[in-house]
Amino acid sequence: MATKHTCTIDVRCLKQHTCIACGGQFSYLFARKVVGTADTPQGASVAAEASARQQITSDVDNHPCPTCGVFQPDMIGSRRLSAQRIMWMLSVVAVVVLFILSVSHILQDDVFVPTALVVLGVTGLIQLAIDARRPNRDLDSNRQKAQGLVDRGTLRLDTAGRPPQNFDEPWRPQKSLLPLAALVLFLAALAAIAAPKIMCVAGPSIRCATPASWDPAIPRASTCNSPSAV
Ligand SMILES: [Zn+2]
Repeated sequence: MATKHTCTIDVRCLKQHTCIACGGQFSYLFARKVVGTADTPQGASVAAEASARQQITSDVDNHPCPTCGVFQPDMIGSRRLSAQRIMWMLSVVAVVVLFILSVSHILQDDVFVPTALVVLGVTGLIQLAIDARRPNRDLDSNRQKAQGLVDRGTLRLDTAGRPPQNFDEPWRPQKSLLPLAALVLFLAALAAIAAPKIMCVAGPSIRCATPASWDPAIPRASTCNSPSAV
């Protein structure tokens, strides 16, 4: 088995942002620990350096502008992506675990569908809430928070900007039917999952009872495993 080499780099640099709203510049200490892994020490070093470059280029900390209090679009996007990625992974893991418990007959079949439905519904609503959150709703509060960070030395005001009279987030999605369409599809997916169960409960004429021979609790007659008298 080939030996794996790792290389760790402690990234520490000042990251500067130019505010999209007021034009002011501010910076903070950007610190990350990155690890590269490869079959050779040189390869691990190259991988770690590439990862460090990628982090410095695309990753950000979440700090409001000290001049106007606006969180920058890449900060909002990065935070929103992380939160939604976590929720998506949690929902997948939860449904897969429920499915495994169901096919293992640890969880009853009639428990699996409603439980998975609740999990998907709750995580879907949390996703919508994450998407609807507006970090720039209260700029005065953001500015006070930024001032506190400046006082503690976490944030540095390099060049003061000129706060706009009326701030309107230019990166907010324009009004369209896409969010409504996404909500309709989400509800339709939940309805599709729940439909068989609802039909069983609501429609007495529909026969949904599981045949006794399918119930794992009732042993099926089998000629293969039965000891036969010779
Ligand atoms: Zn600003």
